Amino acid sequence: MKILNYFKKILITVVIVIAVFFLGKWLVNHTIHKGKADTIFINANVYTVDKQQPTAEAVAVKEGEIISVGTTEQALNNKGLLTKVIDLQGKMLLPGFVESHFHATNAGVFGQGLWLADLNSKEDYLKAVKAYADNNPDIPAIIGFGWKSFAFADQPPTKANLDAIVADKPVFLFEVSAHNAWANSKALAVANITAQSKDPQPNVSYFKRDKNGEPTGFIVEVSAEMQVFEQLQDLDAWFLYKGLSEWFPKFSQEGITTIFEAGQSEYDMFAILEILGKLSTRIVTSYYANDPNKDNFSEFKALQQSSDKTPLIEHNFLKINVDGDPATHSVKLYQPYKDNNEYGATIFNQQQLSELVKNAVKEDIYIHFHAMGDASLGMVLTASELAKQAYPQSSTRFSLAHGYLLAPKDLQRLADLDFVVSFAGNWINGNQADIDAENRLLGSGRFASWYPLKSLDKVGVKISLGSDFPVSGDISTYRMLDQIQHVVTRQLLDGSNAVFPPENEGVSLELALKMATINGAYLLGMENEIGSIKVGKKADLIVLDKNLFELPPTDIHKAKVIYTMMNGDVTYQADE
Ligand SMILES: [Zn+2]
Repeated sequence: MKILNYFKKILITVVIVIAVFFLGKWLVNHTIHKGKADTIFINANVYTVDKQQPTAEAVAVKEGEIISVGTTEQALNNKGLLTKVIDLQGKMLLPGFVESHFHATNAGVFGQGLWLADLNSKEDYLKAVKAYADNNPDIPAIIGFGWKSFAFADQPPTKANLDAIVADKPVFLFEVSAHNAWANSKALAVANITAQSKDPQPNVSYFKRDKNGEPTGFIVEVSAEMQVFEQLQDLDAWFLYKGLSEWFPKFSQEGITTIFEAGQSEYDMFAILEILGKLSTRIVTSYYANDPNKDNFSEFKALQQSSDKTPLIEHNFLKINVDGDPATHSVKLYQPYKDNNEYGATIFNQQQLSELVKNAVKEDIYIHFHAMGDASLGMVLTASELAKQAYPQSSTRFSLAHGYLLAPKDLQRLADLDFVVSFAGNWINGNQADIDAENRLLGSGRFASWYPLKSLDKVGVKISLGSDFPVSGDISTYRMLDQIQHVVTRQLLDGSNAVFPPENEGVSLELALKMATINGAYLLGMENEIGSIKVGKKADLIVLDKNLFELPPTDIHKAKVIYTMMNGDVTYQADE
């Protein structure tokens, strides 16, 4: 009884102390600290990305908003009793990065477990599987992501490679595009895939077989992949929650404060993360239109109505997958492919596309187009022009994913429609194997149309950066600083290789920083809230350990984000 009373006393004391603390804080906030900043950054090298005031020395932040940009003295005028003053000692302060084409959901689903996307050879993959198996003896299955096809030359990987290392439990590894997978015998056995099993979509999604019909362990496309993956992993909400809550802190660590989720958005899961305080970036989700035989517009509307705008999540985007991938000739070209002399195809035809675009423009809905072929883009422009003629007052904003192949004749049309073109900087790296492959596919005559960044800027088209992470091919990165370097140099990060043609399309660091911030914000229609350091904007700020303007272009990637603030909250801080 005595002990109980003792605990009761402690409990009451604790409650009183907490109550006094919060009451005190409230009182101070509403009296002497009223109107004062929460955080002030002083002695900084502020690069604002704001034309009116390009540089500054200090920034003050209150309740998630920027309230002062200027000298240290000016900022300190906002100092109150509870203000945290951070002396940056000359370090670079930038607006938070805006990722304008990203797949956080895919990272959450595919990117759990063994991460292979930073490795480039078969030997390294096998070594990594072995080490992972040794370090995680208790997991029931090894799931991984990120191996690359080029590491296997012309022979896709086989189950035998994996069986030699792990035979007693399933191993299932997604390729970096997530379109193919590599499994061991145990994984196939658990999913009951044998010589007798039927392929889910023959020639499209299937299990590659040897001459006896035995599956080899190489699995092509989503339907077949899921037949195995679903047997190894419960794909429930908890799985997605676990994946996403692992990844968001990493995005914040690289200075990302806003993400455009380009398709297949897990709106509900983002909302749960936000409620739990685990959504460390703002996020703009989208509806993914990939099937012309569906009523995409009605589905989009239903989804939009069921997903409310929250402080960190917005949903006003239609993503239209107009075409596929040049490597499979599923994109349309103005000049025929070099290897088969055909023009390629699109997923939506002109009429279907024009109809969908018109519906969206009528209701001011933003549209992000995946159109890799120059002629596919021509169709997009025609559809957009028609819709704007029908609804000239519409506030719809158009954007293009990846900016892969743009015909010179279409650049002005993009400008006239106020398109934003989002480039995956990591694709513009001049890797010789890439150039050779594109050359075989398209012919070198078309190099003038590749990633024409400077030409677009010249005609007034806004360009932005979106890595397409994690399904972004050979270089799967969410590091915006890497992307910035790539668009400046058009080379691999070590700068050792030839410059990606056309050589004169590399951009200035100033333009690259706009691509990474304000232009991405414009793509999202958020240029008045984020994307630059300006009084009244959201406090999305990052600190770098080096001043990018003092580095040679090939060293930009060596800079590190050491502090990230999103909406006034610290979402990353490097150890001292
Ligand atoms: Zn994408």
